[in-house]
Parts: sequence; C-alpha cells; structure tokens
Amino acid sequence: MADLREILRVQKLGKNHGGYRGEEIDICAVLRDVHAAAQAYGWSPEIFHEAGGFKWLALHHLPPSTIIHQPSSCIYISTGIHGDEPAGPLAALKLVHENRWPKDAEIHLLPCLNPAGFTLNRRGNSDGIDLNRDYRNSQTAEVRAHIAWLERQPKFDFYLCLHEDWESHGFYLYEQNPDSKPSLADKMIEAIHKVCPIDPSEIIEGRPANNGIIRPNIQPHERPDWPEAFYLITHKSRQGYTLEAPSDFELPVRVNALVAGVNAALKPFA
Ligand SMILES: [Zn+2]
Repeated sequence: MADLREILRVQKLGKNHGGYRGEEIDICAVLRDVHAAAQAYGWSPEIFHEAGGFKWLALHHLPPSTIIHQPSSCIYISTGIHGDEPAGPLAALKLVHENRWPKDAEIHLLPCLNPAGFTLNRRGNSDGIDLNRDYRNSQTAEVRAHIAWLERQPKFDFYLCLHEDWESHGFYLYEQNPDSKPSLADKMIEAIHKVCPIDPSEIIEGRPANNGIIRPNIQPHERPDWPEAFYLITHKSRQGYTLEAPSDFELPVRVNALVAGVNAALKPFA
C-alpha cells in the first residue's frame, strides 16, 4: 500500500467549491463493464427498472458452496444513488473484477441507483429529486422499483451504501447497529486509512464523530424524508454502514478507499 500512496496524490485537491467539480464518468459504459464482468464471474443479473434509456441493475452472487448447504450470510451493497459521486459505481466495477468474495456469503450488489443523475453530473435524478430522501412514501419511479425489488429479497446480515462527500476532509462512515452486534466500523477505518486519509473532525455533518466513525441515534419514524439506509435498517437489516469517500481527493484514491472498506467489512465472513 505504500507504493499506492506514492503513486497517487493522497491529498486534498481544493477544487470542490459549492459542489462536486471533479471527474465525471460514462455511466452506461461503466454499467456495461460491470454487467459483463459479473456474468463472466457467474453472477445472476436482474434488470429491475428501465426508464429514459437507462437500466437499473441488481447482481446476485451465490457462492459455489451453496450447492451443498445454505450460505451463512447475506450481504447487500448499493451505490450510485447520487449522480455526482462517481467513485461508487467504479468501486462496484473494481470489486466485481477483483472477485474476492467470501466463500460462504450471498451478495446482492446494486452498482448504480441513479444512472440518469450521472449523465447530468448531479446529485438528483432527471427531475432533480434527491432519491436518497425518497424511501418513505416514495414518489419516484426508480425508488419505488428499488423498494419493490428489496421486498422480494431475504433479510440482509448487513448492508453497505457507498457514497462520496465533496465537502469532507477525509473518509468517514455512519454505523447503524441497534442490537450492538460486533462492529465492523473500526476494521473498515483501519483498512481505508492505508489508502486514504480519515476525516479527523470531531463533528461531521453536524454529528459527533470519532476517528471517522459516526454512530447517529436515528429515529426513522420521526423523519419524513428517508434515505435508503433508513429503509434498510427499518425493513431489511439490523446492521449497516454508509461509507463516505472524500470527493476532494483523486478519483482512484476514493475508489480504492471504498473497495478497501467493503473488503474489510466482508473479511470476517471469508
Ligand atoms: Zn451520496
């Protein structure tokens, strides 16, 4: 990892003023690559929504050992809900290419929840709506389709939602762990720290943080505008993490940070 830090400029670029001003991606090309790589590695793809020439892809990975017995855990990973956060879909592509999944875990991977947003390089969908506030009393067709897909899935042992934050000073994550299960947060931060600085702030997004970890005491039923994570923790899982890569660093640094975080979270299940 020392080599990686020498090659990439692991420092703030200072170019995000008032919003994300970094690299953009060709989301259709990225999703074609994800789809092709996933099929090459034996994943089952499902298109759960189509609109405006875009397809919403869900990938399902069952380990070979499940021919003999049930997988021991079921893990959900999603990204690309904000169209100005390119590191997430690229991290999904890299994870599929690396193909280092736990031998005994079932994985659901949704590599892009807002493809239209990426073609506009903006947070919201084609109507400017932030999909990550539409998971309660949902109004948008894409979130409704996503929820309909989620309702067909089993419960998840944990979820990972991959994001970026253009304002942050380093990587940070949110943990939801209402049953106080063994936390994966410190392991993720430790692994991410090798490839990307961690945000040292004591307050991040208005919440107390410690070494890049925010453990908010959320009350979903008191909030009308649910992000995806609120839906997941309420209906699908009792543990989950929202990972926030710092957009003001080079794109490969952010991609590597998200990949390192996912791999660290999956390691106990390997
Ligand atoms: Zn985001």
